[in-house]
Amino acid sequence: MEKLTIITPDDWHLHLRDGDMLGETVPATARCFKRAIVMPNLVPPVTNATMANEYRQRILNALPAGNNFQPLMTLYLTDQTTQQDIIEAKEKNITAAKLYPAGATTNSNAAVSQLESLYPVFETMSEVKMPLLVHGEVTDGDIDVFDREKVFIDRHLSVITQRFPGLLVVFEHITTKDAVEFVISSSDKVGATITPQHLMLNRNDLLVGGIHPHNYCLPVLKRNIHQQALCDAVVSGNAKFFLGTDSAPHEKSRKEADCGCAGCYSAWSAIELYADIFEGLGVLDKLEAFASINGAKFYDLPVNESTITLIKSPWQIPQEITLPNGRPIVPFYAGKTVNWRIEGARS
Ligand SMILES: [Zn+2]
Repeated sequence: MEKLTIITPDDWHLHLRDGDMLGETVPATARCFKRAIVMPNLVPPVTNATMANEYRQRILNALPAGNNFQPLMTLYLTDQTTQQDIIEAKEKNITAAKLYPAGATTNSNAAVSQLESLYPVFETMSEVKMPLLVHGEVTDGDIDVFDREKVFIDRHLSVITQRFPGLLVVFEHITTKDAVEFVISSSDKVGATITPQHLMLNRNDLLVGGIHPHNYCLPVLKRNIHQQALCDAVVSGNAKFFLGTDSAPHEKSRKEADCGCAGCYSAWSAIELYADIFEGLGVLDKLEAFASINGAKFYDLPVNESTITLIKSPWQIPQEITLPNGRPIVPFYAGKTVNWRIEGARS
């Protein structure tokens, strides 16, 4: 196949950051996605509807003229989040709320320390049909970083999904066979996003031949058997799995550092990389459901009406991009070749 037209996709897990970084990240996503679930881990975190809607406006201000991209906003759950915060958020057009265990990832220091204390909030979310988005890792110092997702499932996620059977739960950026099995065996209220890097790479790509900081993300890349399980999940066509890039930019100097930040900036080539992955797995025909249908249905939102066309025409991801502040960022898969491109896009 040389040409593929699909319903315009959505990105169900995205970090746009804030300030002048929006001048880079917003156009990069809006060039190919119609909507995106925007993560709330700013400094300070986006903890109420007013902050979320102000952030939405800053994102919209960064859109290229004529682009009708829609940011879908989220709240950051903390120990202080109340049921009233959720009710207000629902009224003010906030789509979902994100649960970060304290210390799990970039800017998650403000997050939840005792999950049980949020049970009344989960109850309200279930009532008003607001999805709970979960960064599914424990952060206990005695749990190995490669085991943190599985331990989170066993200790917390299985409890939450049983206790709140009506609550929509998105298990974000899953990385393990255990997560795939958990999602498949759960009710249809439980879905999961899968990033391009977790389908393309395993921990060898992080650690063999030297440390590769631009492949470092959280949850961290796992063994190849887990990568294989994620690939099998998308090959199965199971509608519980959908696209979420977790594109998460950090300046080059913050990735290539003594204590490098977690996150891959994949927005620059996101849908193109997924097309390559699906073609490699022999299921290009399943890309549209994964990228453009499954997530919308899970969130009970309309499927987009427009389309995009991908053509097979190899191009190289740049080694670096210059941010609006003049400093460089290294995009995910920099310097490598991607086979698909969006018709009419940059060459
Ligand atoms: Zn994320």
